[in-house]
Amino acid sequence: MALEVVLGVDIGGTFTKIGLVDRSGSIHFEDEISTRGYDTIEEFIEALHAHVMNSLEQIHDPCLLLGVGVGAPNGNYYKGTIENAPNLAWKGKIDFVKLMENRFHLPVLVTNDANAAALGEMLFGNAKNLKNFLMITLGTGLGSGLVVNGDIIYGHDGFAGELGHVLVYDHGRQCGCGKRGCLEAYVSAPGIKRTVFELMAEETMESALRDIPFSGLKPKMITELAESGDPIAIKAFERTGYLLGRALADTVAHISPHSIFLFGGLAKAGKWIIEPAKKSMEEHLLPIFRNKIEIVPSALLDKNIAVLGAAALIWKKLDNKNGN
Ligand SMILES: [Zn+2]
Repeated sequence: MALEVVLGVDIGGTFTKIGLVDRSGSIHFEDEISTRGYDTIEEFIEALHAHVMNSLEQIHDPCLLLGVGVGAPNGNYYKGTIENAPNLAWKGKIDFVKLMENRFHLPVLVTNDANAAALGEMLFGNAKNLKNFLMITLGTGLGSGLVVNGDIIYGHDGFAGELGHVLVYDHGRQCGCGKRGCLEAYVSAPGIKRTVFELMAEETMESALRDIPFSGLKPKMITELAESGDPIAIKAFERTGYLLGRALADTVAHISPHSIFLFGGLAKAGKWIIEPAKKSMEEHLLPIFRNKIEIVPSALLDKNIAVLGAAALIWKKLDNKNGN
């Protein structure tokens, strides 16, 4: 019997990652194609389809492709659209699912990348037995996937869970969304870099960070310097964790999660971000919630959670259909 697989597709600004994922979360084939260089979405889908069909032929064991799950910036689960994604070349409202289904002749579902990550954790990670949890992705931005009573919260129009754009400071830093003072402008890979430079302006203490230009600074370097005791690096994590924890305390008041998972480049800082976030969350929590909620790294931190999560969209739908 052919192995049943789902195609997981993670559309990023530069690369689109693809993988064939079986029911247990094993990835049987992984690859990526460029997201750029296609004038129209139709050309991109054509190239993606050709690439996938070619890949299926190369796999040794026969596979039965059941559907295509897609994680994309501003992907709308209800409408099947990608709407005005800031880092994609195709503007406006794209009828993505319809175009994909016409080409692949298979069921296609789309959601945003953070929701896909939450589904990945639920089906293949540490949230397997959890019905209430929160997934935070810390990368170029701050994404969040809220799971309540076993379901992703999509909200009235499909865009619920934009924790990255809650206000932390009136008239604060400019955010990529056009507003000022959003959490994402402070708690994300670019956000912590901005904090490092803010601290270097405020403080006089010596730091190896003073020799690194803004454009060359990576979150990994800040983590390594924190490990070696660099005071600016440690303070930058404390400030970032403080703001994250304070925002999480508010989210806990809304949805009462069992756990909070962190994923993304900045989450790889581990204790440096988690400890100050936990401390600040506890300080700001309503007493009935205190000492109950864990903040932990995603179990899929080193795996391709975006592809697994995108595939999980289809697997979860099939499970629901079968009444599991
Ligand atoms: Zn914003």
